[in-house]
Amino acid sequence: MGKRLITFRDGRQVCPLGQGTYQMGRRRSEEIKALRRGIDLGLTVIDTAEMYGTEELVGEAVRGSRDKAFIVSKVLPGNASYEGTKRACERSLRRLGTDYIDLYLLHWIGSYPFAETVRAMVELQQEGKILQWGMSNLDVADMEHILSLPHGRECAANQVLYNLKERGIEYDLVPWSERHAIPIMAYTPLGEGRLRNHRTLLGIANRHNATPTQIMLSWTMRTSNVITIPKAGSIAHVEENAHSLDVVLTEEDLKEIDAAFPAPVRKIPLAGW
Ligand code: NAP
Repeated sequence: MGKRLITFRDGRQVCPLGQGTYQMGRRRSEEIKALRRGIDLGLTVIDTAEMYGTEELVGEAVRGSRDKAFIVSKVLPGNASYEGTKRACERSLRRLGTDYIDLYLLHWIGSYPFAETVRAMVELQQEGKILQWGMSNLDVADMEHILSLPHGRECAANQVLYNLKERGIEYDLVPWSERHAIPIMAYTPLGEGRLRNHRTLLGIANRHNATPTQIMLSWTMRTSNVITIPKAGSIAHVEENAHSLDVVLTEEDLKEIDAAFPAPVRKIPLAGW
């Protein structure tokens, strides 16, 4: 399988294909097996959040292989005051059954000043409770604000919506993030599974002896700074997704994709949930 890695600010390297967990829990034991299979295949980034109710499930999935996993969790904006962020992190650690979170994010912008949240994140990092911190659902102007804060340049990632139908970030956020060496984490890369029967994707998939899902994932990972985090609830889906690391899209494929799903030609406000 593909060997390309994404390097974080602190030098840690991860596979550009990770695993989401939003809406897991309904088929708990199958989902835990799926996450474990993913870790075995090298998909070590596992994305959760206090909001998802999946931190315990993630904790169970990584039991016995905690050192291999790269756990991402998130504080809800309503909890993101200085004190609230610290308390939320402690709760997440308890639910995850671990003593550190690899990457802790602010889930989206709320009413607390960024400076408060970042101060708490930096302290949590100094205490060893989180290894790195970052943001989610922030556009360029807000990321600039983060970087202007004390320690702001330590921001390690920005997790945003990115798939074939939502390409707005390519106009400015992707190049900005590359310039600042801040990896983008692409969420909902499969458009929640809705694009699988698209004619263009089926044609490209046939040429690669691949599936449309693998084409979509390979496409989100085609640049050097993007980690993509599909949620897959079965071993079969995880294995299929893992093979997207072997798909190398050609210029012709990319042209066909651009014709069917045009790239942005002007600023588009950040899309999200
Ligand atoms: P997604 O990953 O784009 O799509 C998930 C859907 O695709 C599920 O229905 C899944 O079905 C299906 N799927 C996965 N692999 C498949 C395969 N090989 N073949 C067929 N179907 C497949 O959507 P998402 O869950 O919204 O986004 C991914 C992750 O991003 C989330 O789980 C979450 O961790 C994160 N996220 C973050 C934010 C944020 O605000 N930061 C917002 C949304 C999501 P099965 O479950 O049956 O495999």
